[in-house]
Amino acid sequence: MAIHRILIANRGEIALRIHRAAHEMGIETVAVHSTADADAMHVRLADHAVCIGPPNASDSYLNVAAIISAAEISQADAIHPGYGFLSENAKFAEIVEAHDIAWIGPKPEHIRTMGDKVEAKRTAGKLGLPLVPGSDGAVSDIADAQEIAHRIGYPVIIKAASGGGGRGMKVCESEDQLETLMQQAGSEAKAAFGDATVYIEKYLGNPRHIEFQVLGDGRGQAVHLGERDCSLQRRHQKVLEEAPSPVLGEEDRNRMGMICADAMAQMEYRGAGTIEFLWENGEFYFIEMNTRLQVEHPVTEMITGIDLVREQIRIADGKDLSCKQEDIAFHGHAIECRINAEDAFTFAPSPGQVTYYHAAGGMHVRVDSGLYAGYKIPPYYDSMIAKLIVYGRTRERCIMRLRRALEEMVIEGVKTSIPLHQELLKQDDVLSGDYSIKWLEDWLRERE
Ligand code: ADP
Repeated sequence: MAIHRILIANRGEIALRIHRAAHEMGIETVAVHSTADADAMHVRLADHAVCIGPPNASDSYLNVAAIISAAEISQADAIHPGYGFLSENAKFAEIVEAHDIAWIGPKPEHIRTMGDKVEAKRTAGKLGLPLVPGSDGAVSDIADAQEIAHRIGYPVIIKAASGGGGRGMKVCESEDQLETLMQQAGSEAKAAFGDATVYIEKYLGNPRHIEFQVLGDGRGQAVHLGERDCSLQRRHQKVLEEAPSPVLGEEDRNRMGMICADAMAQMEYRGAGTIEFLWENGEFYFIEMNTRLQVEHPVTEMITGIDLVREQIRIADGKDLSCKQEDIAFHGHAIECRINAEDAFTFAPSPGQVTYYHAAGGMHVRVDSGLYAGYKIPPYYDSMIAKLIVYGRTRERCIMRLRRALEEMVIEGVKTSIPLHQELLKQDDVLSGDYSIKWLEDWLRERE
């Protein structure tokens, strides 16, 4: 099989990112879009475009029937789902494959396993990944919950098996709160995800979020591409990411990376994936695996020189991985700033028309964005409008260049998070890399 035409089932910067990789491989692209995105950059650049419905994502970017019809009509022979929307929907992956369209993503059964956090943890444990201590599977009985929480010690965190996007978690400080919080977590999970299943794990006090990028060919070959540190978070949403992590040495990177790559080889994982860990006092604890491309993938591309979307397409085409573990080397440092259309410090959304736009440029500066002057940012979707990714030989030089690049970025007509990033890059803890997943929220609280 050879892929000739890819339908991109997404919007915004990631749709553009996929289009770029495809065109560099001589592959045509089909954009699908809602009526609100008719003027979007990815629609303008794609070889073909199909309108798949009204603005609401449930009627367009999540509309399976409309997307499959668009693929049939445009004779696309592959679908790339990007991130979000249908990217981790195992049923959609199955439907795509049932139509003899190549699915540029993992095997549906792996998407399903990793999408259920209880199953994911069990699988990760079997594959030799270190876990956060906790319940072995779902917990429904309060006496069991008490016994488990007592054994691992308070505080504990109650998590929804079907949770995602940082939602469906409750921290429990002591036994007298456990019953109430278990019930609340269960009913909230039921309301939000249609599944009341919850499980318990040890609540780590001050960890970092460190994740490993992996690639597998689906036949037992797998590699890791090192880690990304995504500890700067607000409400469990990543704000700035870097690679490598400022706290990880070469030995730990190789050791954990190989554990991840071996696990993926064992399960015959196919495509790109990310294994997420919390890291505290030198120990890694698996929290979840994302079976898709991630927003922050460019920092890995910057330090390895490997185009992850190109790899995804090659793998979906049945090819071998383009590199062996020993060919993958890490050079320098990369940082990504997520730029959102929102107030930099109150985080109030700020959709609307971009009256003026100038992207930063120069050596080792990459801007992934569908923005242009005159573009109207629709209010219906995620507020992220651009990613600024910068490389430097050292972390220090990367930060100097990032500051320079942020000065150059001009986005007028809407508020953006650029001032937040500029402020962050003045903080001693950020400059020294000394921050945990709590740091950003603590700092924002102190600023008020
Ligand atoms: P989601 O799928 O909703 O993103 P995750 O399991 O990846 O959920 O957790 C999201 C974030 O929640 C983590 O990055 C971390 O900030 C926090 N978190 C999750 N589990 C724990 C834990 N056991 N202890 C402390 N913080 C946690």
